[in-house]
Amino acid sequence: MKIVDVRTHLLDFKLDTPFESASMRFDRRQHLLVEVVCDNGLVGWGECLGPAQMNAAVVQGYRSRLLGQDPLQTEVLWLDLYHTFRDQGQRGLSLTALSGVDIALWDIKGKHFNAAISNLLGGRFREQVEAYATGSFRREGVDRISDVVAETKRYIAEGFKATKIKIGFNLEEDLELIRQVRQAVGPQIQLMIDANHGYQVDEAIELGRRAAAYDIAWFEEPVLPEWIGAYREVKEKQPIPVAGGETWHSRWGMLEPITTRAVNIIQPDVCGVGGFSEFRRVVDMAQTHGIRVVPHVWGTAVQIAASLQAHATIAPAPVRQSPLDAMFEFDRTENPFRQAVVMRPLEHEKGVIQIPTGPGLGIEINRAALEEFKLV
Ligand code: CA
Repeated sequence: MKIVDVRTHLLDFKLDTPFESASMRFDRRQHLLVEVVCDNGLVGWGECLGPAQMNAAVVQGYRSRLLGQDPLQTEVLWLDLYHTFRDQGQRGLSLTALSGVDIALWDIKGKHFNAAISNLLGGRFREQVEAYATGSFRREGVDRISDVVAETKRYIAEGFKATKIKIGFNLEEDLELIRQVRQAVGPQIQLMIDANHGYQVDEAIELGRRAAAYDIAWFEEPVLPEWIGAYREVKEKQPIPVAGGETWHSRWGMLEPITTRAVNIIQPDVCGVGGFSEFRRVVDMAQTHGIRVVPHVWGTAVQIAASLQAHATIAPAPVRQSPLDAMFEFDRTENPFRQAVVMRPLEHEKGVIQIPTGPGLGIEINRAALEEFKLV
């Protein structure tokens, strides 16, 4: 079997209501799918986390090294692509683009051996995942606090037992938001906060100390991801468990945060950290050091499917009667092509998502949707 084509599919949708995290404004949804085609007709799909057009350019840069290669050689091809761009690569787009390629190769491998990727990676510790609702951004033109309170109440009504809200805008307003959301959802719901690295170190410490009264499960990306020492400081000086890792790529990017215990929870993204090949190395490294793994997920149903396969393989740590399972991040913000790109949506039911059992990623792509949402 040989690779005969590597295609990129840029998907785009202009939002009616733009929304913001502390560090980014979204007025469009754009995601990149990668399609790897083999000479025997087998096709694999992947997705890249982050800026779609720049990822597409890097994937196209990898293309010539993939043509004519055996797609089953996932480790060999991973290292070849990584090494070829190592001197100017190492992190960021080199890895997010490589992730999309690696996922597509694993999809081919699964289809070739008629097995779910999770089975090829060692098996499934679970058949379904408990999802938490991700959303609660600041939306343009509405009162932030009442808007987010209403949004989180909708998630609870849908059956989610956990949700994550965006902070990092303004310390006092963020605290008031946390207070009102906790009051609205009641004491039983797990509540997480995500600052999208919007705070200075001292602000993050103060926020954590004052927000702890509202029973927060984790405090995500309190400060800039380049400041690994600052993560340790925030972790040591306030009581809420600190999470991070969606922007740390490859085993080398994860090395310092994990080995110096800069976070309580590490959040690798299979579409960013380097695909399945690298994801499992990072999970092994984190669990070797006693760091909890709760993956990051942000993309279309291809990314959701890849993350579900990856999620199935995360061993409980520690193994015990009632293990603390990794929760599955489930984006609820506006994105009409999220589920449209597959023939059967990967939806939740009362906050629980089933992990597909079919070969590869276990999905079938809806090419009409790729056409409909194609970036023009
Ligand atoms: Ca986040």
